[in-house]
Amino acid sequence: MGPVTCDHAGMSSETETVTTPAGVVVPDRIRRVASEAPLRDVMGGDARWEIPVHDHGFVALVDAMPRLIPEGQTADSAIVQAARVSYGAGTKKVNEDRGLIRYLLRHRHTTPFEMIEFKFHIAMPIFVARQWIRHRTANVNEYSARYSIVPDRFYRPSVENVRQQSTTNRQGGDESIDVGTAEEFLKLLEDSEALYSRYLDLTEKGVAREIARAALPVSVFTEWYWKCDLHNILHFLSLRMDSHAQIEIRDYATAMYDLIRGIVPITCEAFEDYRLNAMQLTGLEIEALRTGKPLASENRRENAEWEAKKARLGLE
Ligand SMILES: Cc1cc2nc3c(=O)[nH]c(=O)nc-3n(C[C@H](O)[C@H](O)[C@H](O)COP(=O)(O)OP(=O)(O)OC[C@H]3O[C@@H](n4cnc5c(N)ncnc54)[C@H](O)[C@@H]3O)c2cc1C
Repeated sequence: MGPVTCDHAGMSSETETVTTPAGVVVPDRIRRVASEAPLRDVMGGDARWEIPVHDHGFVALVDAMPRLIPEGQTADSAIVQAARVSYGAGTKKVNEDRGLIRYLLRHRHTTPFEMIEFKFHIAMPIFVARQWIRHRTANVNEYSARYSIVPDRFYRPSVENVRQQSTTNRQGGDESIDVGTAEEFLKLLEDSEALYSRYLDLTEKGVAREIARAALPVSVFTEWYWKCDLHNILHFLSLRMDSHAQIEIRDYATAMYDLIRGIVPITCEAFEDYRLNAMQLTGLEIEALRTGKPLASENRRENAEWEAKKARLGLE
């Protein structure tokens, strides 16, 4: 028999209780439903899966929802489970589940993908974090440089990765610059890293950490916990694994993708087919394709994009 409890009117009554796995005693009115199949941990019981990125960075998967899934299934099953609420039971076999997931992704029925979440621990340079934080749908908790001293870790590209400014794309650069200029730039980075010892000295002399950090360059590393649902992770990955994204954030996005694709393989296969490796045709492009006429636009960039798409389609 359970302990005596008081109801709202202050009358005493007796209730049955159970003890949760956390050791908390709760009223026994929770209907517990056992899993139909034995459960397995999607991370195989590991505390974290980590991929090193650059010299000091990493992307580490530290948790997933669902964490436990029935034997013989993948975490993709959480998408199917949610979708069945709207489409009804009926698709039970793995190949039918695959078809449903591919249909959902193709037709942008996105909320079932929000039923899966991943939590990451990431270390990256501040200039990468600046781009990353623009993705507003994640929950983020960052290392506090007001509270703690910033560790001595800086991003330095390899000589080959010091890119020349592109003349066609103002945001990027793909080609390496000549070795002499690259080395000059790496020397500049080294000089900026030398500010670190002065930062440390001045914090030791009592300058507050919150203002002292203003002297550090954006190549210094920060860390955060980043939790996001699968729908928004795929949106993040489609933008940041894209060739238009800066190579440094692409390295992190690719590491993130490698961490999740073994857990949600059916979704990732559909993501590659319908998003990552897909292309969108504009109304003007469809018209040009249909009529065989030039694109009805005088915009140079739009025409260049159409040429690139035609080349990809083997139409040149
Ligand atoms: C190659 C590249 C170049 C870029 N260049 C620049 C640049 O020069 N300058 C710059 O400032 N940014 C730049 N960005 C950042 C870009 O503009 C977006 O801020 C970033 O990619 C986040 O995209 P998002 O808003 O779709 O993502 P999220 O913030 O993750 O949002 C996901 C989706 O949720 C919805 N959403 C979220 N919040 C809101 C809201 N408040 N109101 C309405 N809808 C919302 C939108 O549909 C959005 O697409 C660049 C990004 C890329 C990939």
